[in-house]
Amino acid sequence: MPSDSSVSRRTVLAGGVAAVGTSVLGTEGAAGAAAFKDAPWIDAHSHIWTPDISRSKLQPGMTVEDLAPKSFTADELMAVARPAGVGRVVLIQHTLFHGYDTSYLTDAWRRHPSVFRVVGMVDDLRPNAGRAMRQLMAQGVTGFRIVPRMGITDWLQTDGMTEMWQTAAETRQPMCCLVNPANLPEVAAACQRHPDTPVVIDHFGRVGIDGQIREAEVNQLCALAQHRHVKIKISAYYALGEKKPPHHELIPMIKRLYEVFGADRLMWASDCPYQLDGENNYPASIGLIRDVIDFVTDAERRQLLRTTAEETFFFA
Ligand SMILES: [Zn+2]
Repeated sequence: MPSDSSVSRRTVLAGGVAAVGTSVLGTEGAAGAAAFKDAPWIDAHSHIWTPDISRSKLQPGMTVEDLAPKSFTADELMAVARPAGVGRVVLIQHTLFHGYDTSYLTDAWRRHPSVFRVVGMVDDLRPNAGRAMRQLMAQGVTGFRIVPRMGITDWLQTDGMTEMWQTAAETRQPMCCLVNPANLPEVAAACQRHPDTPVVIDHFGRVGIDGQIREAEVNQLCALAQHRHVKIKISAYYALGEKKPPHHELIPMIKRLYEVFGADRLMWASDCPYQLDGENNYPASIGLIRDVIDFVTDAERRQLLRTTAEETFFFA
């Protein structure tokens, strides 16, 4: 699969728009067919947003000026993803911009249910978090982002959070943890309390976010493998280690995780639009897994790039 790193995003966007007249996604039927044939891979983590605040309200204090890039719609995402062989994407709630309002993402799912699934958010401090999770399942929300809450030390043990983990054990909507290495012990404790709950750790648990990939933190991440429903997103390369391509310093950590978890519990993701322009671009992200790492079989590479995410998020 060519990676077209010489083609700028603008060229890709212009080409995509010209090719199908109105949008890269086109009709749902065509998008679905392309997703499986020409573009077999799944990006397990990207955000989308629009500057049109009549369609998608921003959180108090946020303005269109805070959006960077200003616009990154479902069409703009797929114009970048499709040329890299990515036909399906898991859309992740952007807390800072949209809080708990998942409607812009579920709207994209409604228009293209074969292309997208959604990782949404519910407020665990409000009543009936479990019921909200079940209701959102019918809108393409097959996982939930959870993040440490300011001012709540035991954020993983509120009544609502307990209800969410219990509900997830039944619905199979994973708890997707956006955490730092310091949070890994409390995540491990939650996995212990809820052994049947599916869990996905975003971006290697952010090991390497300060530039240092510490053995002790990699060990903590690896220790989560003893909980059989925990999976790891090997993603967000722009933010970890050297924070620039070719991202080869991340390979030893990926190899350790592969040895401990297996390829069926790891999934690649871009975290677009943060890995989009300049040298930290989409081809540099998928290329590391698709073209560079040499310790996996073809079947395992397919798991990293497709099957794990498919089983985790495209189950409903
Ligand atoms: Zn993200």
